[in-house]
Amino acid sequence: MDASDIEGDLAHVLLTEEQVRQRVAELARQIDSHYAGKDPLMVGVLNGAMMVMSDLTRAMKSHCSVDWMAISSYGSGTKSSGVVRILKDLTADINGRDVLIVEDIVDTGLTLSYLVQNLQSRGPTSLEVLTMFRKPDAMTANVAVKYVGFDIPNEFVVGYGLDYAGRYRNLTDVATLAPHIYE
Ligand code: IMP
Ligand code: MG
Repeated sequence: MDASDIEGDLAHVLLTEEQVRQRVAELARQIDSHYAGKDPLMVGVLNGAMMVMSDLTRAMKSHCSVDWMAISSYGSGTKSSGVVRILKDLTADINGRDVLIVEDIVDTGLTLSYLVQNLQSRGPTSLEVLTMFRKPDAMTANVAVKYVGFDIPNEFVVGYGLDYAGRYRNLTDVATLAPHIYE
């Protein structure tokens, strides 16, 4: 669905499907060139990274492998719980691999800094991070993010994989919610 299908649920559209598509294509070019001949392992963080993983890997012109992790973060609300837990671990052994973490959004950076430390301890040849969206608070956290799709304002957004209480991941645009949705 796109923003026009659920107009009453939304406050405003931050990024359109087309803007996101163009940016993903640019990121794919950078990754193609950075990982030329390397067959990187793309590690997606479920469930939010589903859209960016799918679009990014298809926009790439070189080989890669894909694996997934699930980590607890916000529960069903809009505030970070500070509790990070692995709900589903990788299938692949990443020792000696070039690993690229693919994230939907970095807010406080809590989730990501935990994940980076955890994967670093497994002995990858290289470990980098790509996030589709990044909020201002992440700048102050101690996390190096190599590829950023968009720096966005400090608002809760949904769409393109991002949910509120499990919904809106299938919204093709990225938008903020109307206040009545939170009530
Ligand atoms: P962090 O640990 O604060 O960086 O939070 C990261 C996780 O919180 C993301 O992977 C998302 O699952 C969730 N999150 C943070 N901001 C948003 C948002 O604006 N919309 C939807 N989910 C968000
Ligand atoms: Mg996430």
